[in-house]
Amino acid sequence: MSNVTAPIHRATEFLYSDVDFTSLNWLELKWAQWYLLFDDPAIATGLMSFLLHEIVYFGRCIPWIIIDAIPYFRRWKLQPNKVPTALDEWECTKLVLFSHFTIELPQIWFFHPIAEYFGLATWQIPFPHWRTMFGQIALFFIFEDFFHYCAHQLMHYGPLYKHIHKIHHKYSAPFGLAAEYSHPIEVLVLGMGTIGGPLIYCYFTRSLHIFTVYIWVTLRLFQAVDSHSGYDFPWSLQHILPFWAGAEHHDYHHMAFMDNFASSFRYLDFIFGTDERYRAHKARLRKAKEAAKQRGATHEEQAAIERTLNEESEKVGLAAEAEAEAKRLW
Ligand SMILES: [Zn+2]
Ligand SMILES: [Zn+2]
Repeated sequence: MSNVTAPIHRATEFLYSDVDFTSLNWLELKWAQWYLLFDDPAIATGLMSFLLHEIVYFGRCIPWIIIDAIPYFRRWKLQPNKVPTALDEWECTKLVLFSHFTIELPQIWFFHPIAEYFGLATWQIPFPHWRTMFGQIALFFIFEDFFHYCAHQLMHYGPLYKHIHKIHHKYSAPFGLAAEYSHPIEVLVLGMGTIGGPLIYCYFTRSLHIFTVYIWVTLRLFQAVDSHSGYDFPWSLQHILPFWAGAEHHDYHHMAFMDNFASSFRYLDFIFGTDERYRAHKARLRKAKEAAKQRGATHEEQAAIERTLNEESEKVGLAAEAEAEAKRLW
């Protein structure tokens, strides 16, 4: 605390001239110290935003890389015959890093002035009450899911698919790192669902702190990486919250190249019928497995049945993908 209150000859010192530091918690004090490190709050915000993204994204991918390397976990892999190789993961990391440093970094640099224009609190302390943050983050989840549902369907439209979204569909059995393996335009468009919600909310209410946005972005990154993980554990969130999409939902989208366009939740695909083939596939799988169990099929035989049905869905998907690509409109 003494570091914060000690005289610091910087232009930002005036930022906290009215703040009672004795009423702040540890994190709020660290927050103030961070902003006092820089002459310009825009640099403090830009650097923190970039570091947050890198640390959360790659930090969340590490457990999935380890899980992929341990055969014991294959029993929960959604497409167990398609485990990413170290080369797949490295190739993917290279493109993700390239796009982070070339496309995302300049955008993040301009984030502070945009945030201030929309009335977002940045350097200010104390943080809002957790109840306020909880409500705001719930709204951002709903907004992003809706935005993603619409924009993602648009991305499957012939020319947009061929020139943009096809990159993300390189992996028919995705893995954590593949979450942001996308064309820069896709990163930009789908990123608007993540950042647009908070900015619109802030524009109208003038009551939002960037700290809340950081928690939201962290949760959203967890959601994106986890839904590409390729694993469905008995303790996965979708088994606790039935409306949560999770990996099981999005893995089908990559495998079959159709259905399941939403990001976080299942309800939009269900309401608009864009999960019919996915649900039919699941029902077929369940039936075939039950029948196999009844006739005393071994675990290997059951796995083979699952593989055959997955391959059938994939084949239909590949035909649909070729058809979508054939629609040349420019
Ligand atoms: Zn897609
Ligand atoms: Zn995906």
